[in-house]
Amino acid sequence: MSNYKIETKCVQGGYTPGNGEPRQIPIIQSTTFKYATSEDMGKLFDLEASGYFYSRLQNPTCDAVAAKICEMEGGFAAMLTSSGQAANFYAIFNIANCGDHVVASSTIYGGTFNLFAVTMKKMGIEFTFVTPDCTEEELNAAFRPNTKAVFGETIANPALTVLDIEKFAKAAHAHEVPLIIDNTFATPVNCRPFEWGADIVTHSTTKYMDGHGAAVGGCIVDSGNFDWLAHREKFPGLCTPDDSYHGIVYAEKFGKGAYIYKATAQLMRDFGSTPAPQSAFLLNLGLESLHVRMARHCENGLAVAKFLEAHEKIAWVTYADLESSPYHELAKKYLPKGSCGVVSFGVRGGRQAAEKFMKHLKLAAIETHVADARTCCLHPASATHRQMNDEELIAAGVSGDLVRLSCGLENAEDLIADLAQALEQI
Ligand SMILES: *Cc1c(COP(=O)(O)O)cnc(C)c1O
Repeated sequence: MSNYKIETKCVQGGYTPGNGEPRQIPIIQSTTFKYATSEDMGKLFDLEASGYFYSRLQNPTCDAVAAKICEMEGGFAAMLTSSGQAANFYAIFNIANCGDHVVASSTIYGGTFNLFAVTMKKMGIEFTFVTPDCTEEELNAAFRPNTKAVFGETIANPALTVLDIEKFAKAAHAHEVPLIIDNTFATPVNCRPFEWGADIVTHSTTKYMDGHGAAVGGCIVDSGNFDWLAHREKFPGLCTPDDSYHGIVYAEKFGKGAYIYKATAQLMRDFGSTPAPQSAFLLNLGLESLHVRMARHCENGLAVAKFLEAHEKIAWVTYADLESSPYHELAKKYLPKGSCGVVSFGVRGGRQAAEKFMKHLKLAAIETHVADARTCCLHPASATHRQMNDEELIAAGVSGDLVRLSCGLENAEDLIADLAQALEQI
């Protein structure tokens, strides 16, 4: 599949049936798998042979869908997780433990910010947050001797900042650590971070990849490009024997597959954030049309952003594909096909006007969700970001009047008419 274009990978990647086998990916709804002898089974536990034994660790349906996303991103190995939160937690915890440090962009998704700044801090992992627009000097100054990774989002949710992936990759590699990119909003249809130097990519597949609001899920993809063994002392988890697996050294035994192998063998075994095979099947249905849907989401996003920008009751609009956007140049470079369908804007009159406006929308439903076939909207300051104080809100790029509108796949004229009538009522 690697020679095919992204559209072909969306439709046919990850699974090629043989003669007489199901055309669609089969849902292997089985917790466990049968073996003839204890010896056969023992080899699996010793990581001597590969094969399925328990769906908490691996399941064939989930693996086929992970393989498709891996091909779409141009990666070496991938795994599905039960949510985007689990994907980002595993992606960091696989290489950073108590006493370690991570550099992250300050405009990341509120749920990820909470995971990093509150929950993982309790586990002894420190994060330094830098604005995505920082200079190279400011970025380099954030590193410490115990820094183990750099983390950012291609297009931040909901701030919609566009990350200069090459700038972040350069700094990460200068300090001998990998760059992890959450590529949820762009999807590999619009941006493939490995082509710009990222080492690991994560996804909340709950968003555009599923695209129909049907199944929560996540994914981690490894490019296989980061040389763990060249930095043995920095990454002992990958480069020294694992006592919980008979002294295996992942980076020696599994080479380019070491990172995903360890995340499966250790983290999935111990934390068990496994997706259901049924959910993986639904995700695959979404992936089959991702390239068609992304184009329409972007088309609707741009039409709506242009309408809002010209409207007198709108204070400001953030959408990277608008010429007026400070991220327009970065978007042209990293997202030439368009960014996404999510538009952020401020309603004149602040928080109360924003809430009133949203109440009058008919097509756009109020949901803590984005990237769905159906248009939806949210007031982050009173929902997803409400645990943040004012300073953190500003750092995250979320003001009190911010409305996040996720343009679906409806007709753009209908969406604009709905916005127009709701604006008239404030
Ligand atoms: C939604 C989201 C997450 C969290 O994903 P869940 O599937 O809701 O757990 C992580 N990162 C980004 C960019 C998101 O939009």
